Amino acid sequence: MVPAFDYTYRPPASPGLQQIHARVRDADLLRQLPEVQAIDGLFALPRRVHYVAAECGEFGAFYRPVEAEVVLCYETLRTLYERGQAHQRALGLPDGHPFRYVRANVRFMLLHETGHALVQLLDLPVTGRQEDAVDQLAAILMLRFASLEETPAEVIGNLRLAANWMLSRSTGAYNLDAYADEHALGEQRYFNLQCLVYGTDPERFAGMVEAGDLTAARARVCPRETRQASRAWLRLLLPHLAPGKEVYLDEARRFLDQRD
Ligand SMILES: [Zn+2]
Repeated sequence: MVPAFDYTYRPPASPGLQQIHARVRDADLLRQLPEVQAIDGLFALPRRVHYVAAECGEFGAFYRPVEAEVVLCYETLRTLYERGQAHQRALGLPDGHPFRYVRANVRFMLLHETGHALVQLLDLPVTGRQEDAVDQLAAILMLRFASLEETPAEVIGNLRLAANWMLSRSTGAYNLDAYADEHALGEQRYFNLQCLVYGTDPERFAGMVEAGDLTAARARVCPRETRQASRAWLRLLLPHLAPGKEVYLDEARRFLDQRD
């Protein structure tokens, strides 16, 4: 029996978070994330990973290595919803936009934290910043394992909402703490993610450069960056496929055999 994931909604103490808790518990939000479902059971992990929605006292999502817990804070859902509303108003987007914004960002955040979990549990080698590496993994998983009902345009749209969130959190006013942080600056994470999107299909996304969503200089290297990140993660993860999941080997080998 291969350990997989489990999903828990911890009741919050704060009265202000009761409604959010009830909503995500009733909707079983953690089981509605297609990429998390797709990789549940995909890898031979040494222990079970727990996906937990909880009150944290602050905004955030994180991985707790001792407990092997990927934690999504209820506070995060509230903040994302508000940001989604502001985004909707600013751009005159349809009514469903705030929920779409929350969902896209929750997917990206939990996949980012899942990346930290995989690095720890599978003892994967990482050189450079782990934060950058797991941002790449989150994007790659969203490109590969989105739900079957989603069009490629919707998948890309979700990634760009995650990029928007990174940019929206940034004030642009930085100090030593920000420069020293283990995460890249919000603007850099934004452009890194845009680059991964652009790199999947430079012709289709030529408009991103024209719109200023990516500089022409960076855009030139994005196809290679996207390919390199995908190949690296694939090679790191393939040896850890769970028994019975060998069906992914052929697809992976075909991808890895493609030369630049
Ligand atoms: Zn992280």
